Amino acid sequence: MTPPSPKPPIRWLNLAVLGLPILVVLTLVPWYGINYGYDLYEWGWCLSLLIFCEMSITAGYHRLWSHKAYKAHPVLKFIFVLGGACALQNDCITWASDHRRHHLYVDDNDKDPYSAGKGFWYSHFEWMIRDFDSTKEDTSNVKDLLSDPILSWQRQHYLVLLLLMNVAVPVLIGFLHGDIWGSLLLAGFLRLVLSQHFTYLINSAAHIWGSRDYDPQQTARDNWFISLFTFGEGYHNYHHTFAWDYRNGIKWYHWDPTKWLIKFCSWIGLTYNLRQCSVYRQELKRLQVQYNHALVSCEKVIDSPSWREKLELEYNQLVETLNHWAELKQQWYQAKSAQLSTDLHEKFNDLDTESLRQRYRLLKIELEGKRRSWQALLNTFTSLPSPSPQSA
Ligand SMILES: [Zn+2]
Ligand SMILES: [Zn+2]
Repeated sequence: MTPPSPKPPIRWLNLAVLGLPILVVLTLVPWYGINYGYDLYEWGWCLSLLIFCEMSITAGYHRLWSHKAYKAHPVLKFIFVLGGACALQNDCITWASDHRRHHLYVDDNDKDPYSAGKGFWYSHFEWMIRDFDSTKEDTSNVKDLLSDPILSWQRQHYLVLLLLMNVAVPVLIGFLHGDIWGSLLLAGFLRLVLSQHFTYLINSAAHIWGSRDYDPQQTARDNWFISLFTFGEGYHNYHHTFAWDYRNGIKWYHWDPTKWLIKFCSWIGLTYNLRQCSVYRQELKRLQVQYNHALVSCEKVIDSPSWREKLELEYNQLVETLNHWAELKQQWYQAKSAQLSTDLHEKFNDLDTESLRQRYRLLKIELEGKRRSWQALLNTFTSLPSPSPQSA
């Protein structure tokens, strides 16, 4: 048996920068709280800076720069690079380069910088504090970002910016309030450690716990609970499947403050060209996964050929209706916009538009019915009797 290969050397600077704040949070923060106490002003700044850091990472570093899910005004980009330095998660170019490799080689232990295949501890923290080959800097995949003047400026002045945001700002907040240590400990150290570990949960926990409705071949999971701490990034299986979508939580009720921020900014002109996956593509992908999963379950039940037939029939009918619905929806939208355009007005008269609308509505009802019966069929698989040992 070959002995396990020795671990790469520790990056002492990274360990000190990431580890010392944890020590402060575990010792000085509670000690100061017990002896002197913290007030609402300090807790308020701790929370505000936490939101600022997290949103700069999720909306800026992640969805804007790593995935180009939308475009942003330079003012917003500037705010994001300040927040990114405050979050102390490296400069944006390095962060995005690692993240693009994570998506491209997800779960490949040799190439994914924070591969979940190497365990919780590795993907959460260890990948940053040891000199692993997969984490060596390689900016060949972020040439587009290297030419961004705001990102180049941040990279060039990263050390000054991180000191400014993590030391000068908390000290100033405390100075204005008459308690520099209280602010430094809460708005500085506690906020920093919380924001960093909330983000790390996306690489660790969101690749371990949750459902895989869009791509079961990889470890990324959808987990609403993780979304509560990560400002919407917990819908990670969807994100790994449609990474260019500016949303991670696609339903209106999915907790995704990052998508709400991006959407809100589009109303005031700070963001534009928001990219979004169609309902049709999402649903088709999810149906394919359900169908493949049900086919496997079929093998485990009595009378599997007739169940397989039923399954194929229902699936094909549903996909056909879904295709038809998507086509009609597009035609109806085309007709609606044509009514506003003089060039195309001849192609669709009012009568055509009304008839399209009616057909679209009817098909929508039919689709709802088919979705329900498909779901009922999937549910029956869980209650079907398995073959007995003799009949197997
Ligand atoms: Zn991931
Ligand atoms: Zn991503």
